[in-house]
Amino acid sequence: MKHNLFNSLATFDAGHGRQGSFYSVPALERAGLGSISRLPVSIRLVLESVLRNCDGKKVSEQNIRELAQWQPKASRTEEIPFVVARIVLQDFTGVPLLVDLAAMRSAVARLGRNPKMIEPLVPVDLVVDHSVQVDFAGTADSLARNLDMEFHRNRERYEFLKWGMQAFETFKVVPPGIGIVHQVNLEYLAKGVLSQDLEGSTPASRLYYPDTLVGTDSHTTMINGLGIVGWGVGGIEAEAGMLGQPVYFLTPDVVGVHLTGALTEGVTATDLALTLTQMLRKAKVVGKFVEFFGAGATALPVVDRATIANMAPEYGATMGFFPVDEECVKYLRATGRPDEHCRLYRNYYQAQGLFGIPGKGEIDYSQQFELDLATVVPSVAGPKRPQDRIELPNLKKEFLAAFVRPLAENGFGKSANELASSVKVSSDTHAKGDTDHSYGHRKARVEPSESEMRDQHPTPDLPQDLPLSAFARFDTELRHGSVLIAAITSCTNTSNPSVMLAAGLLAKKAVEKGLHVDPIVKTSLAPGSRVVTDYLEKTGLQPYLDQLGFNLVGYGCTTCIGNSGPLHATVEEAVTKNELIAASVLSGNRNFEARVHQSVKANFLMSPPLVVAFALAGRVDIDLSTEPIGQNKEGKVYLKDLWPTLAEVRDAMESALSPDVFRRLYSDFVGQNPKWNEIPSTTGAVFSWDLQSTYIQEPPFFMQFSLVPGTISDLKGARALGIFGDSVTTDHISPAGSIKKSSPAGQYLIESGVMFEDFNSYGSRRGNDRVMTRGTFANVRIKNLMAPGTEGGVTRHQPDGAPMSIYDAAMKYDRENTPLIVIAGQEYGTGSSRDWAAKGTCLLGVRAVVAQSFERIHRSNLVGMGVLPVQFKEGTTAQTLQLDGTEQYDVLGLNSNLKPQQDLILKITRATGRVDEVVVRCRIDTPIEIDYYAHGGILPFVLRQLIAAT
Ligand code: SF4
Repeated sequence: MKHNLFNSLATFDAGHGRQGSFYSVPALERAGLGSISRLPVSIRLVLESVLRNCDGKKVSEQNIRELAQWQPKASRTEEIPFVVARIVLQDFTGVPLLVDLAAMRSAVARLGRNPKMIEPLVPVDLVVDHSVQVDFAGTADSLARNLDMEFHRNRERYEFLKWGMQAFETFKVVPPGIGIVHQVNLEYLAKGVLSQDLEGSTPASRLYYPDTLVGTDSHTTMINGLGIVGWGVGGIEAEAGMLGQPVYFLTPDVVGVHLTGALTEGVTATDLALTLTQMLRKAKVVGKFVEFFGAGATALPVVDRATIANMAPEYGATMGFFPVDEECVKYLRATGRPDEHCRLYRNYYQAQGLFGIPGKGEIDYSQQFELDLATVVPSVAGPKRPQDRIELPNLKKEFLAAFVRPLAENGFGKSANELASSVKVSSDTHAKGDTDHSYGHRKARVEPSESEMRDQHPTPDLPQDLPLSAFARFDTELRHGSVLIAAITSCTNTSNPSVMLAAGLLAKKAVEKGLHVDPIVKTSLAPGSRVVTDYLEKTGLQPYLDQLGFNLVGYGCTTCIGNSGPLHATVEEAVTKNELIAASVLSGNRNFEARVHQSVKANFLMSPPLVVAFALAGRVDIDLSTEPIGQNKEGKVYLKDLWPTLAEVRDAMESALSPDVFRRLYSDFVGQNPKWNEIPSTTGAVFSWDLQSTYIQEPPFFMQFSLVPGTISDLKGARALGIFGDSVTTDHISPAGSIKKSSPAGQYLIESGVMFEDFNSYGSRRGNDRVMTRGTFANVRIKNLMAPGTEGGVTRHQPDGAPMSIYDAAMKYDRENTPLIVIAGQEYGTGSSRDWAAKGTCLLGVRAVVAQSFERIHRSNLVGMGVLPVQFKEGTTAQTLQLDGTEQYDVLGLNSNLKPQQDLILKITRATGRVDEVVVRCRIDTPIEIDYYAHGGILPFVLRQLIAAT
């Protein structure tokens, strides 16, 4: 909606003699709203969105004034309504989101209206990157074979995505085998500045605005390296953003990091990212914006900035932001964006006074830190946390220290005398006469790893000729500290040609010196775009990587997300039987236990060249600064003999960023992807739901949809479905992992004809509400205080007290027309944002959650699903009230005059007949949330608005 509040609608030179319109942030300073020019750049970019989207309802003038007066050290209570310009999704989280859109279309069609009115209001790009797994590695055909497996496993999901592609104008899919969402975003999707037509025909009838986004992946922050504001959010928030609703977030502190100096010879951007991760973790930047400034930041190329920004979740910040400057223009041009657009981009940010990285003293930050880049040294991080940085020469010492450190202190709890133990392993042990053994461990279903908990489909039966060829022969001594996985993986690093080329150069020198990697090490190369392959081939470095086993395995997340694929069965057996602390080395960003592989306990994050180096060394208990990495005929070879110089990397870089290559490789995904083309797609605006599918089902959110919302009224006669203690996480509420055979979800799958070995995980079945509702509160570790002494999703149905599963009890209450509440302690809903934690709660019939405190995003997700969050006053708990679940509950004070955060009454009618009333606080926090709640959630609210507007 066009407005000219504070005289802020202005024009700028949009190129070719044209004028463009924009909402001027500096105009707010001229209008006396505050010292805008001293605000952090990231805050000013958010302010632009608030100003431009001010409509008096979702975004008010007050919101503009509050943010314009942002104070570096104020206490933070106000939420900012942030309307983003676009959305990015990866396939794990994107599929359930598309399911919701499809369900909305079905609802509209049932109402006899045009289903096409359901269309994302901002562009949405989904990149299919999370599903590829390293089943095959170290061979020339690994890429093709892994792709085959991926399509086999995910066919049903991909068919659904293809339907989505043709059904929605603004929903685009980057198919599998192209790249990783954040690298694709950086190299291709990001525009830096976007535009739309203004109403009316004026000389400057196009409105330009900054590229901003949210993504359903925590490392969305990579794009902050290109001066774009954006971060990861949960699915419900993304859906709301997609449908034009603001994403709300608490006004942040902004931490300034003053960078000086330059990286020295032998030091990579990864070392810098790990150094900053350690430094900022210590500085406690959780929930804050981090903004880099100073001459050191200015001198960093965009790809280095992106590596640092990508790791914002690891240092805990909402963003790791670098402002727009000439380097960004250079990057856009180098990656094939048109010259005309690059000029426009520069002009826009100059007009906003937002071009260039600020120097010291120019901005008022909440806190400031200093880092001289010259002090950064080669580093790795691990063995369990990304912030535990270790200087390279100290790795041996630190591994040995971690070996004996107690488990509670991030150690392995071993005794020093176990260190010497070793076991001989040979590929021939199992290979002879038994072709199944290479994958044998996957046939025996064991407690799933993090990777298995993710959204892969089950491993299908493999062709009989594959297992032996999937692993090279080996005959090795395995010890604590042996490297079993060496993966050049993760958009964190694969988006950065300098470290990728350094890996190739190091491989070249190693091969030329006659070194090789022990075949027991599972080596892989999984870039985040095909551009990497182009420059590794052009520079002639890929063949050297191939010779060391770093053959291309796929263009996707692979080991970074835990899709490492199997180890040789003999190796896995030796590791588990002998309880060896084996190691992985990877250029990823997360390394908590079982993230990379269930049997590999020590996981070290490092730059791609160091990954190659440790693969060559074969162990992590080595000081590569003094000990040889290998031996050839001439003698010992050291890391310093292999390490490429800055000049060598710089020379190779010249061929890396070629605009034509980017244009070609990002031009025709479909034409370049025959396997994707083979996937059949249903057509039409409305999805034909397959009632037999156990992966994709129409959720019931809009089944009984009516154009008129219900009224807000008191909740009466509710029963407690569960009473929980403190720190119930979203994983307790909606687990992502394995589905137990005996659980309600397991029983449902068996009844639906799914074999136990094909159960897959809850995470993979997020497109099917039947599984997810049954899985809500089904985490095997959740403790319901209504059923003392039990663990898992168990409760007691009231008033008879019969023990049963939470799902069965919920269904029984539903038949009895009894509403439900959940009672909880502190920090209810902590952990990663997971929309099914709120969706499942809603679908079980829970109308209110009464807790001592809520995690911020889960609270808003509950409101987004029409579930009332209610908070006990200080000093009141389920325990002080002596609640045991036999009570009936009323929540009183709910009516059409409901105000954010107002007091309500929780009336407790005990089994004895005694009645207690306690004052509680409604945790609907904003006026727009009252609307969401009144409509039964964000999606019905938006749907009614859309229908009303047509
Ligand atoms: S490569 Fe890693 S960081 Fe990048 S999107 Fe995939 S899982 Fe996330």
